[in-house]
Amino acid sequence: AKKLAGTAYLHYEASMAAHGTEHAHLGAELREAITGGRLFLLYQPIVSLDDGRILGCEALVRWAHPTRGTLAPDAFIPVAERTGLIVPLGRWVLRTALAQLAEWIAEYGEPAPGVLNVNVSARDLREPGFAEDVGALLRGYGLAADRVVLEITETMALEPGQSITNLHRLRALGVRVSLDDFGTGHSTLTLLHDCPIDEIKLDRSFTQAQVDGRPPVAAAVIHLAQALGLHAVAEGVETAEQAEQLLALGYTAAQGYYFARPMPAEKFGELLREPASL
Ligand code: C2E
Ligand code: CA
Ligand code: CA
Ligand code: CA
Repeated sequence: AKKLAGTAYLHYEASMAAHGTEHAHLGAELREAITGGRLFLLYQPIVSLDDGRILGCEALVRWAHPTRGTLAPDAFIPVAERTGLIVPLGRWVLRTALAQLAEWIAEYGEPAPGVLNVNVSARDLREPGFAEDVGALLRGYGLAADRVVLEITETMALEPGQSITNLHRLRALGVRVSLDDFGTGHSTLTLLHDCPIDEIKLDRSFTQAQVDGRPPVAAAVIHLAQALGLHAVAEGVETAEQAEQLLALGYTAAQGYYFARPMPAEKFGELLREPASL
């Protein structure tokens, strides 16, 4: 038993070391990817549940990795967070997405592209100058602040100090704040109480649980949103049945593969030109 335990320990050490090395390597590659233009954004439409009209889109980052193909954020956002690269990555995402929104407005007019949702990390919100930087970007691209929705997740442990100050400053600018993956964290209600939130996004586990007859979390969430005067978006809608149920519950906005997958900017532009093609 002793030998086995020792072997297991050695194995554990070796795999941990390999893991560490791999992460360090990925971190170095990611640094290059950010400066070398290897990141790109996809945009997933957010639509009106009653008529399918485009209300806006969410920007989702991808990494065109030289040997591993296109990487989804789950493969590199955790590394970015551990290495601090999330800050330059987040700035790149924000700048690129806002520039794209300005381009769509110039090309398709108002209010064609609707609102732009951008994911921000906890680290972004802890930066003292974050709200001011967002304000400067909006002015730089000539964008109205109410065209931008910043998505935050409750799991990101918002700090009572700087993070909340930034949220209030963003609000004062006119930027909206959305609570992502709503219902999956531990402090959802506390967060709603303590932070200036404008929108909640029903996590896809609850969107999809509906047809299985699990407890009607989606119904409770829309009631909460209505009572608090918050905009609600249901994520991860994959079937017509889910869309119908959500509409019946009182949801007005949704996002998911049933309507459209995340797509390149040019493709989203085509939808703006010919909305019927969705
Ligand atoms: P999220 O913000 O909850 O984004 C929704 C994710 O669900 C996206 O995955 C999207 O492609 C996927 N999705 C959309 N509709 C459906 C559907 O109908 N069914 C299913 N099964 N999935 C659907 P993606 O793009 O891989 O992003 C994963 C997560 O990575 C995001 O979750 C977000 O937390 C994070 N992320 C993405 N882009 C950024 C970014 O620019 N910055 C930061 N900090 N995080 C990002
Ligand atoms: Ca999101
Ligand atoms: Ca989400
Ligand atoms: Ca998520």
